[in-house]
Amino acid sequence: MMKKDKMLYRVISCVHRLDKSYLPVLAVTNMIAAATPFVAILFSSRVLDGLVKREAADSLMKSVLFFVILSAVLELTRWALEKVKTIKENKISKYIELRVFDKAFSMDYEVLEGQEALNKIYKAREGINARGSLPGFCNMLGRQITLISKVVYAVIILSGLVTNAKGVGNGALYHFMSKWYSILPVFLVLACAIYMSIRMEKKAGDLEKKNFEKNVAANRSFSYFFQLVLNYKMGKDIRVYHMADMIEKRMVEVNQKFDDARLWLAKKRMHLMVPSRIANMLFQILCNCYVGIKAILGLVSIGNVVKYVSSLLELGNSIGDIMNVYVQLQVYSNFLIYYVEFLEIENKKYEGTLPIEKRDDNEYELEFRDVSFRYPNSNEDALNKVNLKMKIGGKMAVVGPNGAGKTTFIKLLCRLYDPTEGEILLNGINIKYYDYDEYMRLFSVVFQDFRLFSFSLAENVAASKEYEPERVKDCLVMAGFGERLAGMEEGIETNIYQLQDKGVEISGGEAQKVAIARALYKDSPVVILDEPTSALDPVSEFDIYSRFNELVKEKTAIYISHRMSSCRFCDTILVFENGRIVQRGSHDELDADKEGMYHKMWSAQAQYYQKEAVVN
Ligand code: ADP
Repeated sequence: MMKKDKMLYRVISCVHRLDKSYLPVLAVTNMIAAATPFVAILFSSRVLDGLVKREAADSLMKSVLFFVILSAVLELTRWALEKVKTIKENKISKYIELRVFDKAFSMDYEVLEGQEALNKIYKAREGINARGSLPGFCNMLGRQITLISKVVYAVIILSGLVTNAKGVGNGALYHFMSKWYSILPVFLVLACAIYMSIRMEKKAGDLEKKNFEKNVAANRSFSYFFQLVLNYKMGKDIRVYHMADMIEKRMVEVNQKFDDARLWLAKKRMHLMVPSRIANMLFQILCNCYVGIKAILGLVSIGNVVKYVSSLLELGNSIGDIMNVYVQLQVYSNFLIYYVEFLEIENKKYEGTLPIEKRDDNEYELEFRDVSFRYPNSNEDALNKVNLKMKIGGKMAVVGPNGAGKTTFIKLLCRLYDPTEGEILLNGINIKYYDYDEYMRLFSVVFQDFRLFSFSLAENVAASKEYEPERVKDCLVMAGFGERLAGMEEGIETNIYQLQDKGVEISGGEAQKVAIARALYKDSPVVILDEPTSALDPVSEFDIYSRFNELVKEKTAIYISHRMSSCRFCDTILVFENGRIVQRGSHDELDADKEGMYHKMWSAQAQYYQKEAVVN
């Protein structure tokens, strides 16, 4: 468990990183805000003493004028700073979630894919939404600066009470009261009040954290149900199975849990506060009596009675509140630390800077040299001593049973992960030394779990807001989307998915065609298709395969496929099994080895197709 002060410090540093000038503005604004009651106290005290001493009117007026000008300057400065502060706070709250996305996008894929990072993202979002998020924390921090400033101002004023104890009198009480230590009993009671309030806040803070943790589960199920209502894709099942009532009841139940928890917390807080309230009252009574007795003994003037009583009360309240606010800040930090920790996750991947040699002849050579790879948190190698050389221009199929390491091979090639052992080379140089963005320009990948976005078709294909409309169309037609496109009123401007205005739904197979079009539009020298036709109907699949060569032209194409028939289009076939390349060659060469994995897979599928043909 991290030390609480360190946690608070890390959250404050995170705020500072979000906007470097915010904290100074917050500090000065609150220091000025804290001065306001003291200006009023000093003013009243000065006027009262002046009146008691029957001071000349013009000297009194001068003091009044001085205080009026001082108050005006302070108020105006504070007003201007408040404006700046509000602008900065708006900026911070706008960026706080964006930073989560920025971070998620810039993280090593390896880290992002891990369960730990996903948990951190979830908690980061929960953390910034809990308890009014970071702006709430900043407000509390501002309050703390006000309180600390008030304590400093009060101590400066009260130093007069301890040092200027001169009067005319005698007797034990007079002697005691004229000594500095006479104030100690007052401070003793103050210390008791503070101690009690710390304990109370600590307990309340712990209860609140417990409550938050309990609520996270309830929150998650509430968001789930809420999403069900908003997600039109669920609408069909909800209607067919008349589930609306059931969902509504579950939402009410979850809501009831929140209400009960809130009520329970409020009650507990009330009970906890009683002792510290009593101690505080005692302190106030003692302050009044202490200064009152001093006044009776002639140790302080009437004006100073006002000054000291008010300052003592401000001091008492402020110190008590400092503790409350400190504990509150810690409670905020308990939630926000998830956000900070998420932003502080470091990328471990080596970031190369070498540019990729631009070659008109596309003569690139990729090589896997003794590459092994093990996923973090796994105790088995997903790839084991893979050796391979590929030249741009060939067509290569990668086949093998599920879990053989085919997708992992692609992930390593795209540097989503770095090998655990061995190296991957491009034209003889380890790929990690190349600039990553440049390196990735070499590849277009259609992943098995590809994603399209709720943008227009053209934006999806070009992966950008700027695009060449003709080329977008060509790619869509080449990928077999032409017919569907012709039926779309807005053509390539059509928004896909209904999140967007006039969004159009497309089927899984159509989405796969758009994803293939996106890979073609990128026009990289290497096209990788991971199960490229899994969602396509047999006609579309045949269409894509029969035009494969036309689609990828002179590019290197790597197909990962379960459809063994697709291997026929390829010059080289790699057969993966248990993370190793167990066979390599053309279809005819591999099929000739009747004991080999390739032949087994090929005949199993051929048999299936034959059976299917008989059934039909
Ligand atoms: P294929 O594409 O041939 O079906 P994969 O490359 O996806 O196989 O998987 C190879 C092995 O690595 C499998 O045993 C799989 O369970 C494991 N694996 C894949 N992804 C991960 C991951 N993110 N974390 C841990 N193990 C993984």
